[in-house]
Amino acid sequence: MPPETRAKVLVVEDSQTNLDILMRLLGDYDVMAALDGPTALEILERELPDVILLDIVMPGMDGYEVCKRIKQRPDWQGIPILFITGKTDEPSIVHAFDVGGSDYVAKPFRSKELLARVRIQVEYRRAMDTLRTMAVTDALTGLPNRRAFFADGLPLFNEARALGHPLAAMMLDIDHFKRINDRYGHACGDEVLRRVGGVLRDLVSARELCARVGGEEFALLVPEPETGLALALAERLRNRIESLVVETLGGEPIATTASIGLAWIGPETQTLDDLMAQADDQLYRAKRAGRNQVCSTCRPESPPLRPQTAPPAGTAPESARSPRPGHGV
Ligand SMILES: [Mg+2]
Repeated sequence: MPPETRAKVLVVEDSQTNLDILMRLLGDYDVMAALDGPTALEILERELPDVILLDIVMPGMDGYEVCKRIKQRPDWQGIPILFITGKTDEPSIVHAFDVGGSDYVAKPFRSKELLARVRIQVEYRRAMDTLRTMAVTDALTGLPNRRAFFADGLPLFNEARALGHPLAAMMLDIDHFKRINDRYGHACGDEVLRRVGGVLRDLVSARELCARVGGEEFALLVPEPETGLALALAERLRNRIESLVVETLGGEPIATTASIGLAWIGPETQTLDDLMAQADDQLYRAKRAGRNQVCSTCRPESPPLRPQTAPPAGTAPESARSPRPGHGV
C-alpha cells in the first residue's frame, strides 16, 4: 500500500520468537511492538495504531487486563483489538469479547487468515473514523456542524463560566438568502454558503469555534482575553462577506451580505443555549435595523461598547417588519 495509507499495527506479545514472526508477516504495515502490557500502554500514550494484536497469556499484566485498560480510555477505546491466543476454550474466547476484543486468532495461527482478519479490522477502524468525521462536519462548507458546535462549545462555555473568563457568542445569518436561492437557483445559493464558510475559515482562529448551524446560519464562540476582539472579528466577517465577489455562471454578480448578533456570557447566562439565544436576539435586531450590520449587547464588566455599529452606507432601508431570522430573511 502507498506510504500515506499504511496502517499502523501494535503487536503485544511476550514471546520474542512469536513477535519476530508477526513483524515479518505484517511487513506491509507500520508495526510497533511491545513485549508486555505496560510497555504497550506506554506506546499508546505516544502513538495511536489502527489495530492492536494482543496476546492473552503474558507474565504480569495479561491481555484481558491490557484490553480493559485500553477500553477505559476515551481516546483509545475506538482502536480494534484482535486477540492472538492459545486459549481457545469457549469461556476464554467469550471473555476476550466481554472485555472489549473485536476478534481473535487461535495459535498456532495461519498467516493468510491472520492477515485477512487484520485487514478487516483496519478497514472497520477507517470506516468508523470517516463516519465520525462526517457526523460532526457540514458537507457543504466543511465547517463543523450544529452537533459539533454544541459538543465542543459546551466545555468552552463551562470553563469560561467557572473561571469568569469573557466569552462571546455570535450568530451570523446571510441576508436575503431565500431571495438568492429563488432568483439564481440553489447551486448559486450553495456557492454563496461555501464562500461565506471560506470567510469564516480564514478569519476564525484555532482557539475559536465556528460552525454552520442551520440553512444559512453560522454560530461562533470567541474566548475574549482582550476587550474588543469579538466585536472586531464580527466587523471583519461582515466586511469580508460584503466584499465577496460571487457570480452566477452567466457572470451576474450576487450581492452577498450578512447580519451578525453578538452577546457575551454574563452573570445571568446559565447555559450555552441562553448565550446563543442572546446572540440570536441581537441578530434579530441587526435584521430589523436594515441588515448587513453587527448588533451586540454590552460587554459585561468592561468599558461600555457601542451597542451597535453604524449601518454601512448604501444599506437598503428596512421596508417591512422582519420575520424571525434564520429562514432566508
Ligand atoms: Mg504469551
